[in-house]
Amino acid sequence: MTPFIRTVRGDIDPAQLGFTHLHEHLIGRPLDGEPDEDLYLPSEERAVEEMRLFAAAGGRAVVEMSPADYGRDAAALKRISEATGVHIISVTGYIKGKSAEPLASGKTVTQIADEMIRDIHEGIDGTGVRAGILKAGSSKNKITDTEAKIFAAVAIAQRETGAPVSTHTEAGTMALEQVTLLREGGVPVERILIGHLDRLMDWEYHVALANTGVTFGYDQFAKEKYYPDKTRIEFVVRMVLAGFRDQLALSMDIARKSYFTSYGGGPGFTFMLERVVPWLREAGLSEDDLDALFVRTPMRLLTIDRQE
Ligand SMILES: [Zn+2]
Repeated sequence: MTPFIRTVRGDIDPAQLGFTHLHEHLIGRPLDGEPDEDLYLPSEERAVEEMRLFAAAGGRAVVEMSPADYGRDAAALKRISEATGVHIISVTGYIKGKSAEPLASGKTVTQIADEMIRDIHEGIDGTGVRAGILKAGSSKNKITDTEAKIFAAVAIAQRETGAPVSTHTEAGTMALEQVTLLREGGVPVERILIGHLDRLMDWEYHVALANTGVTFGYDQFAKEKYYPDKTRIEFVVRMVLAGFRDQLALSMDIARKSYFTSYGGGPGFTFMLERVVPWLREAGLSEDDLDALFVRTPMRLLTIDRQE
């Protein structure tokens, strides 16, 4: 069995992945009942334009974290990847209870797990485009019954497929509880990425999470409305010095028209390569550190080493 990464254009040799953003959105639409026009990303053309800018800056791969309850369009992602050469990894699962409720609440854990396994093994919505990562998420300061059911289903699908798990935490809360649920479900910590920790910049909390062995995301770069990037950079450097470098996943999650250069906004997908990477160098990170953060950790997480 040769290990592979499952992209929307097919399986690739993990060594081909390159510079990666582990949590982004290219085509998306929130289904949580709070219509916000800015969060609606409908345009394939603009996604292509954005990915061309990303590729020109040195970007090679994007994990597209919009599942069924966020308007996922697997066929569009494949066309965007074909047009630009950027590797795109698509997702199966659900973001959180509020949007997943109408789609998942009436199903059993087994039914939800079977859908996820089908998305990974056969393809999404009959497209033949296969998902390469699993998603579950929770609400602010609580995990609802439907969310717990989705975590249980993700654990079953993870054990069956060997695919990695990437989570949504609401404002950074419930990270340790998410790890507990996934571990109880038999998911190895090396296969877990807990998202959005930089929505709750609490050093002791992050260290407790890092000590579980999971990977965790500082994936809100450029969103100064939550915290300044200066604080994110400080936390990255501290984590590297504390020995947790290889458990950090950096990304931007800029799921708004007003954040995309191609929709006339900013900072756009080039921000990480053009601004954050130089800041990290100035803060003392080595080229080896940068390679670990943006190439080796995404490669390790996304690699599936499992016979189907
Ligand atoms: Zn997201």
